[in-house]
Amino acid sequence: MHELSICQSLVDQVEQIALSHGAKSVASVNLKIGPLSGIEPTLMQHAYPYASAGTLAAESTLVIELAPLIVRCEICGAETEAQPNCLVCGVCGDYHTKLVSGDEMTLMRVELITLEARNDV
Ligand SMILES: [Zn+2]
Repeated sequence: MHELSICQSLVDQVEQIALSHGAKSVASVNLKIGPLSGIEPTLMQHAYPYASAGTLAAESTLVIELAPLIVRCEICGAETEAQPNCLVCGVCGDYHTKLVSGDEMTLMRVELITLEARNDV
């Protein structure tokens, strides 16, 4: 399962952040996933409890936000939102476009629980 290994490296990353801030545990993790990243948000949600079990992130909530798919047109220069199956310019309709964003997975925010209080990182 592809998403489980992605989830495990995500949890590793989150744990590193938590440890470097001396946190007791992780409250929530916000993730942004692009439609062309090849990552299925639902499968990530399912894999997360398994990947985070026994780590500082074990009790945390995974919040997934969908990133927009943005293309830049090589003809008119416009940056517009596109559909995964139709990467054409939203202004002039040309298909000579380059992907600006939409194929990435970004860790947006990690909410940590320290002994004192909650801290946003
Ligand atoms: Zn255009």
